[in-house]
Amino acid sequence: MTEAVHTAPAPPDHSAFMPTYRPLPMVPVSGAGCWLADADGRRYLDLAGGIAVAALGHAHPRLVAALHDQAARLWHVSNVFSNRPAEALARRLCELTFAERVFFSNSGAEANEAAFKLARRVGHRRGGPDKHRIVALRESFHGRTLFTVSVGGKPAYTETFEPLPPGIVHVDPGDHEQLEAAVDDRTCAVVLEPVLGEGGVLPLPPGYVRHARELCDRHDALLVFDEVQTGMGRTGHLFAHQALGVTPDICTAAKALGGGFPIGATLATAEVGDQLTRGTHGSTFGGNPLAARVALEVLDAVSDPALLANVTARSEQFVDGLRTIGRSTGIFTDVRGRGLLLGAVLAPEFAGRAREAQLAALEAGVCVLVAGTDVIRLTPPLIITADETAHGLERLEVAFTRLVRRWREAAAGDGGPEGTV
Ligand SMILES: *Cc1c(COP(=O)(O)O)cnc(C)c1O
Repeated sequence: MTEAVHTAPAPPDHSAFMPTYRPLPMVPVSGAGCWLADADGRRYLDLAGGIAVAALGHAHPRLVAALHDQAARLWHVSNVFSNRPAEALARRLCELTFAERVFFSNSGAEANEAAFKLARRVGHRRGGPDKHRIVALRESFHGRTLFTVSVGGKPAYTETFEPLPPGIVHVDPGDHEQLEAAVDDRTCAVVLEPVLGEGGVLPLPPGYVRHARELCDRHDALLVFDEVQTGMGRTGHLFAHQALGVTPDICTAAKALGGGFPIGATLATAEVGDQLTRGTHGSTFGGNPLAARVALEVLDAVSDPALLANVTARSEQFVDGLRTIGRSTGIFTDVRGRGLLLGAVLAPEFAGRAREAQLAALEAGVCVLVAGTDVIRLTPPLIITADETAHGLERLEVAFTRLVRRWREAAAGDGGPEGTV
């Protein structure tokens, strides 16, 4: 037998892709629970969870079984027919939340697109065409369709895509005066993420969210929560707003709803939801039996109080551990977020270097996310154990101790930071 020659797994090949992404150097080929593996069988603890999607980790036996069972029965019938999994999922979402009506789609952007169209339509019906303004937050993220990037608060995502839909007003998150000034009788909706996810893992103060509710009531506008990232147990509650004591008129879900199978949902009260009448909106794939069947399993699992208690316990463990790493290495100044949506903010001397920290973590066997260039973001599977959490923290400490030493040596050596990767 000849000796096996070790070759590293092939790097990502995006040569035939439009260049929208910059994938990390490791290409996962399989996953189980909180772990990913590359083609060499090297294992990585996944604290990214497919961007807050893999709530039950990878290849969860319940989800695999549900998907296999449904795959052998019925994949797709379109909205020409009803289907039992979608009916059951809609009923269950209504039982567990404020909602009385649900519209299904395939992604977060689509769930929000439906929410914003519905808000515009309700505005028209309540106050005529002038009542069309949408008030949203700077730094917020709502998806990548033209309407959802326009409502989102990142100008970089709309530049060169103009003209944009008009009638959208942005205010700084947490600023009560700006909000008060922006909402008036021409407002059809105020749109909030309870924790701004892509915008840097920024929880909104409960008083600010309550203020938004009061202003919507005063001006006959709808309060829309985008819970695409914060929903489905992520914050230790099925939906983040359930802990804030503020009920929206519309709430969107996607990401973890299908645990990795694409599905989006727009939830609303009956009074609001019933205004999206026949023919006013639709989707070929929305509420697809495969997606709905898997989502029903996810919803059942993430509404279990034991799982939600795990989210809260692991959150405390991560926050303590990350703060300790921040103190020992000097890499972070602040750790914030809710539940297992956590952000560790780089110290000012390391501002802009989140990508380098992400690559260093990967080299040490841990997948993390960034939010912008200054925040390391963790959105691990909600099923992560205490031992896995401890292991992840230990690897991050090793990675960041080494990285900070390298950064400081480079700064001392040539008087400037090394080039970013
Ligand atoms: C990810 C995300 C979206 C967009 O979801 P897609 O499935 O990528 O379209 C919208 N809103 C929030 C808050 C998100 O985190």
